[in-house]
Amino acid sequence: MLKQLITGAALLSAATAPTLAADINMPFGQVGFEIYRTAVEMRTAKGHEQVPLLMDYLSKKFISGGFAAEDVHTLPIGKTGALVVRYRGDGSSGKKPISISAHMDVVDALRKDWTEDPYKLIEKDGFYIGRGTLDNKAGLTAVTTVFLRLKAEGWVPNRDLIIAFSGDEETSMASTKALVSEFRALTDSEFMLNSDAGGGLLPEDGSTPPAYGMQAAEKTYVTYTLTVRNPGGHSSRPRDDNAIYDLADALRKIQAYRFPVRQNELTKAFFEGTGPTTPGAMGKAMTAFAKNPKDQDAIKTLRTSSDYVGTIGTTCVATMLSAGHAENALPQSATATVNCRVFPGEGVQNTENTLKKIVGNEAVEFEMISDPVESDASPLRADILAAVQQAVDAKYPNLKIIPSMSSGGTDGMHFRAAGIPSYGVNGIYIKSSDRFAHGLNERLPVVALYDNFEHWYVLLKAIAS
Ligand SMILES: [Zn+2]
Repeated sequence: MLKQLITGAALLSAATAPTLAADINMPFGQVGFEIYRTAVEMRTAKGHEQVPLLMDYLSKKFISGGFAAEDVHTLPIGKTGALVVRYRGDGSSGKKPISISAHMDVVDALRKDWTEDPYKLIEKDGFYIGRGTLDNKAGLTAVTTVFLRLKAEGWVPNRDLIIAFSGDEETSMASTKALVSEFRALTDSEFMLNSDAGGGLLPEDGSTPPAYGMQAAEKTYVTYTLTVRNPGGHSSRPRDDNAIYDLADALRKIQAYRFPVRQNELTKAFFEGTGPTTPGAMGKAMTAFAKNPKDQDAIKTLRTSSDYVGTIGTTCVATMLSAGHAENALPQSATATVNCRVFPGEGVQNTENTLKKIVGNEAVEFEMISDPVESDASPLRADILAAVQQAVDAKYPNLKIIPSMSSGGTDGMHFRAAGIPSYGVNGIYIKSSDRFAHGLNERLPVVALYDNFEHWYVLLKAIAS
């Protein structure tokens, strides 16, 4: 899953213009392009078992690029796997390593649905087109290429840098979990930089983006089924209790309920930063809410937006429904699926208790059907912000960094849950209309591939020199 900040349209773009011409002729540009093409052309979707091929390919690149074989770990995990590469530092900072993540797998794509073969990298009209060109093979390639470039240049970081690539981020995340548990000795680090999140949204006219978004928190994803059972009977003889009506009552209560409004350091900074560039009443509400999280008018306005309602608290919503077994029988059971996105710190158990309380009917059976991973927001650290700012400045000088919280689902949540703060800091700038992650004809502006190489080059040097 790829998470990027969505800010409102830019009212005023800063008087800065891109300063950097990164392209295939940049140092390691050609090497990076070959890695990108090879990675995109491997069908690393679930069921195709090509992640091990990609791991093997990448590990050979690292070893031939000067990394010691004992520092390159290909870790088979079921039919997928994880790849860990340690870039040895001189230890002069006296600090723990930094890990860097990307995922090697993709959501599958079918030839018949696409205009061209999704597993053939095509360059057309200024875009690279193919499955994974954006999510997340661009990030994976950037991190790999920059490790190779820095090694070739003889750079030695002042602490170890650890690549930790997962192999099933889009599905079960078993490899991500293994990276921070079973293989923790290989990945243990002070914090993690995630190439699968962060970046900037370009205005549709292609001018300077309003801000750079750094993902520093994720909500907790949790799903329940709510079931009501009933003896049922013949529909010609209705009874007062009815599984469908009882379930509908419960759902109407959930629909009407608003979870408490929450704000943390990160969402406050998000609204502070996004308000001034968001037009109209929504922008004003953001600014007001950042100042005063109890501002009822602001809360009311933010709740009207599906983009922002989730940024001010926990949400739970009905997503699926099934009930009854015959058109002439009283229903013997009725089940609804309710998906929640829990605000950091609110707690899954607390959310479940709240749902049960507002439903107020013990006949409604709750069952948790997902395996939630709770994680706190990662602290906003001056050293990380300063390094990211240097990388952002390479493309857009003085572009403001705005921290963001995503709705849940990147490798970062497992790292955070394991006590390793994580930051989505990829360097891709793209228009909303060009974003097709998980969808058809996924693409990446050609220039964005090379800009991202430069972004990671500056970022890693800034954070570990
Ligand atoms: Zn992704």
